[in-house]
Amino acid sequence: MPPVNWKAATKVYCRSFFDHFCPCLLCGKMSRSLLCAQCTVLLPSLQGPLCRCSLPMPGANNSQPPPLCGRCVRRPPPFAASHAPLIYSHPLDRLIQRYKHHGDLVCENALEQLLADMPLPWPDTDALCALPAHWQRCWWRGFDQSQRLASQLSRLWQRPLLPALLRQRATASQQGLKRTQRERNLRQAFRCVLPMAGLSITLIDDVMTTGSSARAASRTLLDAGAREVNVWTLARTLPPSRR
Ligand SMILES: [Zn+2]
Ligand SMILES: [Zn+2]
Repeated sequence: MPPVNWKAATKVYCRSFFDHFCPCLLCGKMSRSLLCAQCTVLLPSLQGPLCRCSLPMPGANNSQPPPLCGRCVRRPPPFAASHAPLIYSHPLDRLIQRYKHHGDLVCENALEQLLADMPLPWPDTDALCALPAHWQRCWWRGFDQSQRLASQLSRLWQRPLLPALLRQRATASQQGLKRTQRERNLRQAFRCVLPMAGLSITLIDDVMTTGSSARAASRTLLDAGAREVNVWTLARTLPPSRR
């Protein structure tokens, strides 16, 4: 019988232990995945009836076409529909902020796992397109989170990902700005660099806050000839009155 290589055996044992048990990123309890089952169940999901911009419309029927919120009545969004499986609130916001602002790629793995486990309806679309951050912000962060999310969804849904949109100029951070300031900030922020004639496009972003970026990017794709634009975000921020 060959001598036992205890060092190698311990290494294999430790690796298989950590493959199966690691602390949950949100509550710290030992779990088989990066988010434990309890935390995953507690993530706030977005449920209908919803406006075209994914805002909940309490008291409305699940009618077709869906009811519109006050803003969308005044200024209908250029996109045909939007989809967001989750609400951007505690504790999902912690996870997304750690990933986005601190470059914590373990959080990205957790979000990827979450998406892979979700029952996501396949979109009826010709191609996906990420809503891009300006290159200066990508350079500062080291990555473009919506591009990475779009790549994952492109593999999941088996649809091509088109590098169609560019940010023409760096817009100031949108956080804390009023809606009219956001829209002024975003006017002509995007440029389409591929022919879009007749295509149905799903625009991908991580979080929809007011929807101003999604509106501006959708308008750019439609002006470039896209037949229809739908928006898909991982999470939707709700205004304080809807929380
Ligand atoms: Zn947990
Ligand atoms: Zn709306």
